[in-house]
Amino acid sequence: MKSLWNEAEAKQYTDELGLRVYSSRLLGRDKTLVLHGGGNTSVKLEEKNILGEHETLLYVKGSGWDLESIERAGYAPVRLGHLLALARLPRLSDTEMVNELKTHMTIASAPTPSVEAILHATLPYKYVDHTHADAVVSITNTQDGLARIQEIYGDTVVIIPYVMPGFDLARLCAEEFPKQVNEHTIGMVLMNHGIFSFGDSACESYERMIKLVNKAEKYLQVHKAWTKPSGFPAADEETFNPYLALAEFRHRLSLVANKAMLVRSHTEYKYQAFIDRDDLYEVSQQGPATPDHVIRTKRLPLLGRDLDQYVDEYQSYFDAHAAAHPQDLAMLDPTPRVILDKEWGLCSVGRTAKEAAIVADIYDHTIDVITRATSLGAYQALPAEDIFAVEYWELEQAKLKRGGQPPMFSGEVVVVTGAASGIGRACVDSFLARGAAVIGLDIDDKVVTNHSRADYLGLVCDVSITQHISQALQMGVKQFGGIDMLVLNAGIFPKSCAINQLSNESWREVMQINLDSYLMFLREAHALLKLAPNGGRVVMMGSKNVPAPGPGAAAYSVSKAGITQLARIAALEWGADNIRINTLHPDAVFDTGIWSDEVLQSRAHAYGMTVEEYKRKNVLKTSITSHDVAEMVAEMCGPLFSKVTGAQVPIDGGNERVI
Ligand code: ZN
Repeated sequence: MKSLWNEAEAKQYTDELGLRVYSSRLLGRDKTLVLHGGGNTSVKLEEKNILGEHETLLYVKGSGWDLESIERAGYAPVRLGHLLALARLPRLSDTEMVNELKTHMTIASAPTPSVEAILHATLPYKYVDHTHADAVVSITNTQDGLARIQEIYGDTVVIIPYVMPGFDLARLCAEEFPKQVNEHTIGMVLMNHGIFSFGDSACESYERMIKLVNKAEKYLQVHKAWTKPSGFPAADEETFNPYLALAEFRHRLSLVANKAMLVRSHTEYKYQAFIDRDDLYEVSQQGPATPDHVIRTKRLPLLGRDLDQYVDEYQSYFDAHAAAHPQDLAMLDPTPRVILDKEWGLCSVGRTAKEAAIVADIYDHTIDVITRATSLGAYQALPAEDIFAVEYWELEQAKLKRGGQPPMFSGEVVVVTGAASGIGRACVDSFLARGAAVIGLDIDDKVVTNHSRADYLGLVCDVSITQHISQALQMGVKQFGGIDMLVLNAGIFPKSCAINQLSNESWREVMQINLDSYLMFLREAHALLKLAPNGGRVVMMGSKNVPAPGPGAAAYSVSKAGITQLARIAALEWGADNIRINTLHPDAVFDTGIWSDEVLQSRAHAYGMTVEEYKRKNVLKTSITSHDVAEMVAEMCGPLFSKVTGAQVPIDGGNERVI
């Protein structure tokens, strides 16, 4: 591990809180030190209050902030004297502690201080840094971890046995630290949890963290416990054959969890190699590398596909530990967050794509920790009761009880065709805004780069080729676990052409894209839509031309009439499968690719109008945008339309011929 400290960069931060931000970001950049909100840092500063009195404040990381991207506003200033007084109390519940922290801040709008604030306060150093370094937990999570830590660090660190994070840990440190500290002390190891460093300057504290973690890494290297499986790139996956089995699994998992969940399959070599270990059961059924991972990953991964057994075991684990708990606990959903399967690889589960990505990141590092600890002898996590205490600690339970309404399509997946531009692209935005994971398909490769976020997968797809369609669906299942909704929107709008001049080729081309591909999508996606936990939904992009055709657009109008009829029949056939299919008939949506100036002029001419007249030729004299149509599409997939199937809805500002 290298120090990332750069004097020129550091100079841009002129004050002590600025340097606190700078070195915290350096820690956050190294994923082997902290992951997704893990770790915390602080600085103690003298300030003058509004009465002109001097007071010492602990600026400590606020909850909800990531070290990698933290800013000044991410630090909560808490009065140090009060924190030190709290550390002397015999007992303080977490809820009481959070209340004390929040009521002794000097900026009302600051975030809630980290639950480690009191611990930071008790360490008599200006800067304090805390991480869950992979190398350190690889060593503490072994049978003789304590002896190894003593061997590596000698008297340079204070060593604290495992205690649950929060007040109890702060109190133990306040007692133990003065007993163990000496002139060589530069850090503190928390067994089965992580490591602290500290110093008079941001640089000193940061460099000590790097130095201490390097010692652990060297120790692992010397003991031939540093290597991890690597070297093989992921196989080039044109297809993902077990997709239907994975979608069935996700369906069952969502029913047990009582909410739609996403499942992402990762088949990289590293995971396959871990899953192929002979001792997989032994090493994977121990527990997480550091306790706060349990909130994301649950205590244990599921090996294979026996969901019922996992749920039974989770129930027993809950019953066994909840009985001894002082409060009444509400059981979390009993489904796994990590699945290790020979065919599916490492699967991560989440209510959102981001959650699933965080789970995968954490388990990726857990595999490193387990592999190294096993090379040292044996991986040994904390006993189940300690993990349970963190999984069910009162602040998490309170969060759970507060609940809050998740977005409409949380845990659900939609495929949108023609997603690179126009109405399709607007649909992508409308579904993302409602919490869905979106698979955007288009022949235009802009679809790949339009968004860069965990809940979006853009794939180039020629909708006239069945194989492209089935591959896209398979890749979508690999990425998110299933397909709940289908928005069939891809289409072409040819130049105006009278029937007596319409060529076979032109007719065929329109039918292929606007009609045949819709059949192919419905056929290929049916088995997946049937497995949607909340029921499958399809919206087809029809046209005003279906109820009210105009001259010069025979092929287009016939193709749209064709899909309208197709949707009606599908609605009849698939009602028993709990799949709804509805058609939208938009008109005069001019901010889309098919409306080139040439097409506009030609259509206006066919109606004997100017382009401007043509654009607002509706009863409401309004213009209709891609966004308007997309919002309607999304709502038609939502609860508002839950009892509607086989319907055709015009979205055209009112058309006299349609009305
Ligand atoms: Zn920690």
